[in-house]
Amino acid sequence: MPQNKLTQYTVNLTQPTIIPRPEHSISRDNIDDVSLKVLYRLHKAGYRAMLVGGAVRDLLLGHAPKDFDVATDAHPEDVKKLFSNSRIIGRRFRLAHVFFGREIIEVATFRASQEEMHDDREHDDSGRIIRDNVYGRLEDDVWRRDFTVNALYYDIADFSIVDYTSAMDDVENRVLRLIGDPQTRYREDPVRMLRAIRFASKLDFHIHPDSEQPIFELGYLLADIPPARLFDEVLKLFHSGKGVKALQLLCKYDLLQYLFKQADEKLKAGDEIFESFIHLALQSTDNRINEEKPVTPAFLFAAMLWGRVDELSEQLKLEGEPGSIAMQNASSMVLSEQVKTISIPKRFSMVVRDIWQLQHRFQFRHGRRAKSLLMHKKFRAAYDFMCLRSLAGEVNDDSCDWWTRIQTLAPNEQEILLKPAKSKPRKRQASNKASKKVE
Ligand code: ATP
Ligand code: MG
Repeated sequence: MPQNKLTQYTVNLTQPTIIPRPEHSISRDNIDDVSLKVLYRLHKAGYRAMLVGGAVRDLLLGHAPKDFDVATDAHPEDVKKLFSNSRIIGRRFRLAHVFFGREIIEVATFRASQEEMHDDREHDDSGRIIRDNVYGRLEDDVWRRDFTVNALYYDIADFSIVDYTSAMDDVENRVLRLIGDPQTRYREDPVRMLRAIRFASKLDFHIHPDSEQPIFELGYLLADIPPARLFDEVLKLFHSGKGVKALQLLCKYDLLQYLFKQADEKLKAGDEIFESFIHLALQSTDNRINEEKPVTPAFLFAAMLWGRVDELSEQLKLEGEPGSIAMQNASSMVLSEQVKTISIPKRFSMVVRDIWQLQHRFQFRHGRRAKSLLMHKKFRAAYDFMCLRSLAGEVNDDSCDWWTRIQTLAPNEQEILLKPAKSKPRKRQASNKASKKVE
């Protein structure tokens, strides 16, 4: 019962478990220097200063944290006074960003408790938090966190860990458990469902049954999340190095439809080649991330939407549109459908279009067309994409091998291989020219 859970956590709120330095594994050697600087300066100025959230969780798990978040009882204005290199940001809640070169440390003021929250936070009709700017104490701040393992505080005053929610046990048992009543917490912020999937896949945790069950029923709430926020969340989901697992979980909880409806429909229709292609594309992205190679959101979107754009462009070709025009039109239709859910910044959607548009050009292996494809600034991404299609069984010729080989050759050897095929029929040349114009 939600009521019981609330009582249970309220009791814990007054009695945190303090894990002293000798009894936990977090060493200052693993905390980055600038975060330590921020923590020490706040502490010396008489404020409470704690490392919180993913950094504490990741350090306990022996992972390198992605970022270091600081929580304090200093208000954003106090933080601003203490750090000349800082700025106050945020509308829904205000917090301070402290800048050190390229690094940013986020310093958030403790926020209000559950009881105060009901009075002071603004919710919309579905229970979603609209505004939330009530400062509180450390013991209040715990309540606004999502999962217990994200609500551990590392205290710079004595290097202990403060645990209000038995989070240390959950870290030990690799369990994700929402703080408070799961239904309410998902309704307050449906993105927490995606965060559950992200942490479960990234950290290899399992979602506690109480926190898992509502996800099956509340997915539809994601339809109200602003597209720009979903873009950020989707990147975090698929660029965590565990994208294959993330997709598997999105399908398990039937949430893919709220992110990539067009991909979800293809998968549900049983398109095995597309399923295999998506798998390979995500696996290749995971491998690149784990090898610390760069990845682009364009590749993710190009892959997720490929099944549909390919189908649609084939349809348009049957209706009489020339190949490249058909692909251009199909691209516009598929992208404009997708951005209703997840916004895609133009600098990425242009690359998505390039990757798609270049796919049919791999069949031309001679002359200017082939040469200009090889020189195209998006050749590499398009080539990787084509090879994955080939691996998935979609491309039946030896294009992947041929284009792989040509890249290993010296420029003069490439020239020989790319030499225009002799004595092309005039008619064919003319039609090639015509189609080139429209690309
Ligand atoms: P990552 O390793 O991906 O950065 P993280 O846990 O640090 O994971 P952030 O998005 O950086 O996640 O958020 C920092 C902390 O803020 C979280 O650990 C959590 O305590 C809190 N938080 C973030 N988003 C939410 C949310 N939607 N609801 C409740 N608490 C949240
Ligand atoms: Mg973080």
